[in-house]
Parts: sequence; structure tokens; C-alpha cells
Amino acid sequence: MAATSQIDQQLVAELRERGLRVTPQRIVIHRALCSQSRHMTAEQVLASVSDVLPGTSLPTVYATLELLEGLGLVRRVGTGNGAVVFDSRIEPHAHTVCRRCGAIADLEGTAAPDDVLNRAGATGFVPDHAQLVVWGLCAACAATAVRS
Ligand SMILES: [Zn+2]
Ligand SMILES: [Zn+2]
Repeated sequence: MAATSQIDQQLVAELRERGLRVTPQRIVIHRALCSQSRHMTAEQVLASVSDVLPGTSLPTVYATLELLEGLGLVRRVGTGNGAVVFDSRIEPHAHTVCRRCGAIADLEGTAAPDDVLNRAGATGFVPDHAQLVVWGLCAACAATAVRS
């Protein structure tokens, strides 16, 4: 994990390059995503920054996350149950999502669905990226399921 100052510098550089303002909210929200468990819902981001930024609203958090997504600093991951988490790890990777407890984890190894992207492109669609989510039971929930 990069040091906080490096994390901040990267964001400041991206914002300045696009002529966007550097605000405490943008700094703190980006820092929260980079330094914590990495996969966070907007509600979790709000909870984690509310001590430092009292009065921050959920719409502000969403707007900031969308801005960071637009800058390519975070990626939105649809977890398949209607929830969206934001991920500060931006290189392509697959996820496992537990349908019982909702735990989301990175799956190491290649996750480059080039074939899917190529086929999407062939239809005239302009793909950004594709995500693979493996849906099932995490090890802890699977162990409980066996016992009961
Ligand atoms: Zn689970
Ligand atoms: Zn991830």
C-alpha cells in the first residue's frame, strides 16, 4: 500500500491536470478508499469519513466517487445482488461474492475477458472493461452450511 502522501499526490495531480478543484472531501474520500478494505459501498465510505468531514452527505459521497471513477482512480464493481462497491484497485481482477454474508474478495490471477470484449466490440458496442464476479458461498459460510 502506498503512503498517504503518495495517494494524495496522485489525486492532486489528476485533479489539477483536469482543472478540477482540490477539496478536503475529495482528498479524504479517496484516502478512505485507498487505505481501508478497498471494496466499500458509498454508505461505508460515508461512515468512515464522517469523523473527519462532519456534515458530508451521501449524495456528495456518490458524486465524489463518480468523479474519482472518471479520473480512473477507483472502479465500480457490481456485486450481482444490486449492491455496488467501489474498488481502489484499478487493474482488471475478478471478485468472489458470498451470496449469504455479502463478503467480497479479490480473486488473484488473470481476469482478462478479451473474448467477451471483442465480441461486444463486434456488435458496435464500445466497451470500457468487463468484470467477472464469482457468486457463491465464502469459506466461512460454506463451513456453516455443511454443519447445519
Ligand atoms: Zn459468507
Ligand atoms: Zn477488487
